[in-house]
Amino acid sequence: MNATLIASECEARTQPRVVVAGLASCFGCQLQITNAEAHLLEVLGQIDLRYWQLVSSEPLPDEYDVAVIEGAVTTDEAVRTVRELRAKAKAVIAIGACAVTGGVPGMAAAGFDDRVAGTFAGAVPSACGTMRAPKPVSDYIDVDFTVRCCPIDSYDFIRVLQSALYGSNHIEADRTMCGDCKRRENECFYKQGTLCLGLVTRAACGARCVNLGRPCNGCAGLSPDANLEAARATCTAAGVDPNRFDEALQMFNQAALIAAADAARKEAE
Ligand code: SF4
Ligand code: SF4
Ligand code: SF4
Repeated sequence: MNATLIASECEARTQPRVVVAGLASCFGCQLQITNAEAHLLEVLGQIDLRYWQLVSSEPLPDEYDVAVIEGAVTTDEAVRTVRELRAKAKAVIAIGACAVTGGVPGMAAAGFDDRVAGTFAGAVPSACGTMRAPKPVSDYIDVDFTVRCCPIDSYDFIRVLQSALYGSNHIEADRTMCGDCKRRENECFYKQGTLCLGLVTRAACGARCVNLGRPCNGCAGLSPDANLEAARATCTAAGVDPNRFDEALQMFNQAALIAAADAARKEAE
């Protein structure tokens, strides 16, 4: 980790050089950056934006200080890209569920080789690159900062970018989001017999969806404090089929669940 005081290191060169790269994603999180209109010009005034994949067809420049990465790693080419970004940048920021947990592309991770064989019958188009099972960026490189959710919150991004530029702390909460939800005095969905993944999801969004009357679908990723067995028991007690809980978890957490199952299998061997 070498993200401290990038701004002061860059004083001689005036402003930190930032690149924004996209891997397997819908570009929605890059688009969210543009939605912070009120602060965008202020932020752009603090950085030297060298490359933004959403609006550029140029290749990545050779030098930069901060690399912002959106999207899951799904090809050998993407592995090379993230390794190059890590090697050159002083700070790496992963944005959005695709980059942080594998996100929606991660839903194809289970049985990936069979899926590819079944879809392309051995003739993968060259435009797909050399495909591999979708994984989060942090499976391949060290990530200094994360901006979670699908899509990211624009202001979260600006806050984290400021942390990267000026070396202030950005410590992620490990807890699940139920505490944040209860502080907003929301009635728990389980009281209505409705599935809500906030029970096991990392507190990163202030219970955004539940505050708006919608159950959480887990886009911030599993909390390190998540107790899946206890969550399944809660489902059963509330009349929610625990299999639905397991299915819902796959949407944003499949890569993490596969990695956890692999680790448990290796430990048992
Ligand atoms: S996290 Fe969601 S909005 Fe962002 S790139 Fe992935 S799919 Fe799109
Ligand atoms: S399970 Fe969902 S609705 Fe219930 S407290 Fe947790 S976040 Fe709120
Ligand atoms: S409430 Fe859940 S689904 Fe909604 S943004 Fe937060 S983590 Fe994502």
